[in-house]
Amino acid sequence: MLIRVEPKVSTSYHRGMIESGLLWRLETFIMTDLASQLLVPADYIHGTFVPCFNEERYCGPNSAVKDVYRLELSFQVGSEIVGTFKDDIFYDSVAQTFRPRRRHRRLLVITKARQEAQRALAEAVDALCQRIGNEHLTEAACPKCSTALKIIDSPALFDVTCPQGCFNYNFHRDSASGQFQHGHVFYGQPA
Ligand SMILES: [Zn+2]
Repeated sequence: MLIRVEPKVSTSYHRGMIESGLLWRLETFIMTDLASQLLVPADYIHGTFVPCFNEERYCGPNSAVKDVYRLELSFQVGSEIVGTFKDDIFYDSVAQTFRPRRRHRRLLVITKARQEAQRALAEAVDALCQRIGNEHLTEAACPKCSTALKIIDSPALFDVTCPQGCFNYNFHRDSASGQFQHGHVFYGQPA
């Protein structure tokens, strides 16, 4: 197993952090929190590690952002990339460990299985929402978790939400024609 993470720092604060062993702690974090999510162990992990606020003016003693980093990784088995990771992490200098920048968020390695599950969910959600809209269903269950969905099916707005956070499907309608105009679909994190 080889880990090669290239730091790209340009401030004296971040250089000092690296000199004090930050990359060793990062390596431990990658092994325990990220590489452990793969079903088959990677033999090569590579990527970049960049402060999100990579300028001296953000590195004052009371700065809340100087310890936020963007970590991007590829996990390989042989020549095949079996997982990727791209997210912001926060270095807690008291605990000497990393955690998600946003506390409620899990840090996920995107594996093929997760990608496939998200794609299947997107297809199921799309088909179901088309049906709800066409047939004006007032009740339906989430294709992922089976919870009863919240449905708003009005002339100007179509919104279907899983209360468990699996997805939100939201479109504005042309009141006259009923056609979907603009909107969005959000998905929760895969399992
Ligand atoms: Zn759900």
